[in-house]
Amino acid sequence: MPERVVIVGAGQAAAQAVEVLRKRGHTGRITLIGDENLLPYQRPPLSKKYLAGSLDRDRLPFRHAAHYLDHGVDTRLGFAAVRIDRAARRVEVADGSAIDYDALLLATGSRARMISLPGAELAGVYTLRTVADVDRLRAELVSGRRAVIVGGGYIGLEVAATCREAGIHVTVLEAADRVMARVVSPEVSRFYEAEHARRGVDVRCGVRLAGFIGRQAEPPNERIASVRFSDGSEIPADFVLVGIGVTPADALARDSGLDCDDGIVVDEHCRTSDPHIWAAGDCTRHPSIHYGRRVRLESVDHAFEQGASAALNLLGLTTPHDKVPWFWSDQFDLKMVIIGLAQGHDRVVVRGGAAERTFSVCYLKAGELIAVETVNHTKDQMAARKLIPARARPDPLKLADPAVSLRDAV
Ligand SMILES: Cc1cc2nc3c(=O)[nH]c(=O)nc-3n(C[C@H](O)[C@H](O)[C@H](O)COP(=O)(O)OP(=O)(O)OC[C@H]3O[C@@H](n4cnc5c(N)ncnc54)[C@H](O)[C@@H]3O)c2cc1C
Repeated sequence: MPERVVIVGAGQAAAQAVEVLRKRGHTGRITLIGDENLLPYQRPPLSKKYLAGSLDRDRLPFRHAAHYLDHGVDTRLGFAAVRIDRAARRVEVADGSAIDYDALLLATGSRARMISLPGAELAGVYTLRTVADVDRLRAELVSGRRAVIVGGGYIGLEVAATCREAGIHVTVLEAADRVMARVVSPEVSRFYEAEHARRGVDVRCGVRLAGFIGRQAEPPNERIASVRFSDGSEIPADFVLVGIGVTPADALARDSGLDCDDGIVVDEHCRTSDPHIWAAGDCTRHPSIHYGRRVRLESVDHAFEQGASAALNLLGLTTPHDKVPWFWSDQFDLKMVIIGLAQGHDRVVVRGGAAERTFSVCYLKAGELIAVETVNHTKDQMAARKLIPARARPDPLKLADPAVSLRDAV
């Protein structure tokens, strides 16, 4: 068992790894290095209840300081790990300290992408990843103001819903021909576009942007005033949220010579190309045993499960990380849950109708159920979480009949 465990990144995966390490009998030193000056906390409320102001800041952390103290975890927060000396097995931190390890876990998550367009640096143009980001953005949420959201993915649409409920005029600008095109079926996209429109969100797809225009003021205080399209037209904006996805935070690993490929490459035991270094969460690209290919995932469930697997493996309790991922998104009163990965499907079966606001979309590959998207459909969601790992092969005719439960369609 490694005596000195160092974890870089204090987020979802790190928090879970700490829990598992102690629960499985690790009694050595654990050092948790995080560049945000906060204990590990949940990010999903950042675009939902915390942004809306209905969830207090002290409800965000998974555990409070006393818990880490009681479990002998040395938390070093507010400074980034800047270098890994792999030969000496030492992590160097931005405050000038250096920490030796026997086992190192990288759980550095991902960073929000900023759009590279003129004016992206103007005051009032935001991205959203951290509590600090929300605290800045929240000050803009004043009823009657005009928000432009660039990107119709989860984060963009969740923020759109929160802003709309706060009485803000919201326009969502999406480059693809439908919202959430990367992650959900056209049926689900169209449903969400209609639901947002019904509540007054102006959703525009297939949009080409030219840049952000500032109000005449002295740089660097120039503020956003409008968003310009490639045809030269503009829409006014009091503030802008750019939600165009994330990039894995793999620079530290890359700079130290670990194999990276749009994420830190790990094996099924969460081990990197260095036998003393493991990685977990958004920052990894890992082999999905169930789907037979390498994937990079951005979800709470994945960070939680892979953080746990990495902890077990670095303790020497060899455990392949073999989980079917799932993800959720809350927008208005709609709960979407996606179970599995749809890529490679050859058949799609829609169960129920969007008109009822409760439906699901099932993806099959050579007869096997590989993914299900559910909207307000707890029953299908729970069934899918059992059926997909079991490689179930439903009868497509029964599957298409919403009166037949998903479980009974198999
Ligand atoms: C606004 C928002 C809403 C979301 N909503 C949902 C949702 O509804 N459902 C869902 O499943 N997922 C959601 N997610 C995604 C989910 O939160 C992430 O997938 C999850 O947090 C990933 O966990 P992680 O531990 O890999 O990384 P993170 O939680 O991002 O933690 C990584 C930490 O490492 C720190 N770090 C990075 N580099 C260094 C360094 N060199 N030194 C020290 N520290 C470093 C980072 O600053 C960060 O604090 C949401 C994310 C956001 C931002």
